Amino acid sequence: MSKLGRNDLLGIGFTSQRRRDQLLDRLQAEGVRHPEVLRVMRNMPRHLFVDEAMANRAYEDCALPIGFGQTISQPFIVARMTEAIIGGVNEVRPKKVLEIGTGSGYQAAILSMLVEQVYSIERIEPLYQRSSALLKKLQLDNVEILHGDGTLGWPDKAPYDAIIVTAAPEDVPDALYEQLAEGGRIIVPLGKAGSVQRLTIIRKTEDGLEPQELELVSFVPFLSGRN
Ligand code: SAH
Repeated sequence: MSKLGRNDLLGIGFTSQRRRDQLLDRLQAEGVRHPEVLRVMRNMPRHLFVDEAMANRAYEDCALPIGFGQTISQPFIVARMTEAIIGGVNEVRPKKVLEIGTGSGYQAAILSMLVEQVYSIERIEPLYQRSSALLKKLQLDNVEILHGDGTLGWPDKAPYDAIIVTAAPEDVPDALYEQLAEGGRIIVPLGKAGSVQRLTIIRKTEDGLEPQELELVSFVPFLSGRN
């Protein structure tokens, strides 16, 4: 916890602790189990990842607008996806993770406390600028963000032990399968925009791709091209 320790000294991540504790107690009651996911989310100042006007709602368990028609995901879903990415306490934890859809940077920040290196791609330039600046301010130096189209993945940094997609495509782009290490996993909400999607974990094994559906979710659409 050295990174958040430093931030606490700067006075960041300290003021809303009581409200974060209440949120995390609720997530735990709803079935979030992984002790480290709970610990990291209990310490992460989510209010810094939303507009100031929304900061008082940052510890409600809901998605919130972050501008440009996009949202920061609901904390329960962030917890679920993070658990799916890092695996159980007895499993080998992925070291290098690629995220498609940086948005506010919150999911990337949570992952950065749990794995060695996070790469994240955002197609909307102002969101890319804002999340890059915030993660730098929080000294989360093991996150690198690219302004680009996640359809192409980030081939220079491949292979990835895990890939998390935080916008909903109808199908997983081929490039992401190609850039996934064998034994790795993709977690992705699959389905049409504007309807519910199926949060799916797809494992890449020597026998091929093995999908497993987790739960129904609602994400903003995965769009091709940069903005
Ligand atoms: N993980 C984010 C969730 C943001 S919402 C968070 O914690 O806040 C999803 C984001 O995915 C949006 O910012 C959207 O612009 C981005 N996105 C959608 N399609 C994309 C693509 N093809 N490549 C990169 N980013 C994409």
